[in-house]
Amino acid sequence: MRAENIFEKHIRRDTLFKGSREALYPDYLPDYLPHRESEIDRLAEILVTALRGEKPSNILIYGKTGTGKTAVVRYVGRELLRAQEVYGHKNLEYIYINCETVDTPYSVLQNIGNYFIEDWNKKIPFTGWPLDKVFTTVRKRIDEWGGIVIIVLDEVDKLVTKSGDDILYQLLLLDNEMKNSRLSVIGISNELKFTDLLDPRVRSRLTQEKLIFPPYNAYQLEDILEERVKIAVKDGVVREDVISICAAIAAQEHGDARRAIELLRISIEIAEREGANKVEERHVYLAKNKIEMDCVSEAIKTLPLHSKIILLAVALSEEAGRPQLTTGEIYEIYRSLSRRVGASPLTQRRISDLISEMDMLGLINAKVKSFGRYGRTKVVELALPVMEVKKILFEDELLMELNNVKLTSQKKLFF
Ligand code: ADP
Ligand code: MG
Repeated sequence: MRAENIFEKHIRRDTLFKGSREALYPDYLPDYLPHRESEIDRLAEILVTALRGEKPSNILIYGKTGTGKTAVVRYVGRELLRAQEVYGHKNLEYIYINCETVDTPYSVLQNIGNYFIEDWNKKIPFTGWPLDKVFTTVRKRIDEWGGIVIIVLDEVDKLVTKSGDDILYQLLLLDNEMKNSRLSVIGISNELKFTDLLDPRVRSRLTQEKLIFPPYNAYQLEDILEERVKIAVKDGVVREDVISICAAIAAQEHGDARRAIELLRISIEIAEREGANKVEERHVYLAKNKIEMDCVSEAIKTLPLHSKIILLAVALSEEAGRPQLTTGEIYEIYRSLSRRVGASPLTQRRISDLISEMDMLGLINAKVKSFGRYGRTKVVELALPVMEVKKILFEDELLMELNNVKLTSQKKLFF
């Protein structure tokens, strides 16, 4: 008998999604953004000037992650360009740049400049030109083109933290240095304190208009999720109670719409893999655990080597029946383990710092415990299941060879 093709059972399985599953992915831009009507209207009110051929005010937008800043700004840009076709007086460009990836003055200018250079041979190269040559080319090109440019710098705080605010200053001044064109900047930041980093001249120009996006509450998140469910999921698969739970969980975690949508998507995927025909409450909790475990796993993977060794020391001790350790005990085990992998041990003081850092990340719990007349001391224990932690740690090539290490009850290592 012919073996079944490995895909067959998956193909036969009914999907719970409609064709448009991408509506549950972060990049999807819906046609309707519930509970952002007033923010959208405010932006339209400011930017309409561009349709009359004049420069709109610069705008600074801030709000926590997942409050719809990127979605709203992209949405407004799309609508603006549509309106331009009907009502526009002059040329208009709306340039969206995400400064998380485009994070140097050179790359910001290069991105802007190349919008206005059609000839591939004349485009500004990725690297190599002196910055002032890039700048003058950009200015010349925009001015020759003649029109209104709106430049959106999303996650602008990342750009400023990395490269300072000179580039913002230059862009904001560029507007006065051209004859035929005008330029406005919309900056978006997750960080409220970001403006403290700015030179007062930059700050006052950039914040001609300010918009704050508040976090969503549970009811608002429900409406957002409902819209997505209509587009992405078959009828009857996600009932209202499931939407409410996803919304409630995300509302507790700072009202982040991205998290709410992700939670819903993973819940549906888990239900689908199980062969269920609708999503149940328990699928949502499984999804929540999965997301948390993924975050933890990411946090562990990106730790520096010495922190990983400390974590391994605590894990091994728990396996040997001693879940709680003092910093001194950890240090002893840590030292032997480091030598084993050929890393020279750091000082105990440094290790204490690394322990505190991992405590803040929620990977371990460190608390001060009283030992009667012996005084008080800090004890440390793992905050996560030991098997999971070991599995993730041993993915690191440098630690792999410690795979068979055990700890004796005398806290000695054996292999
Ligand atoms: P921010 O830029 O503030 O971090 P995003 O705009 O990226 O947040 O929003 C996160 C996710 O939530 C995106 O997938 C976005 O489409 C969605 N979203 C945010 N606000 C709304 C809303 N009001 N209606 C529908 N979807 C939204
Ligand atoms: Mg964003």
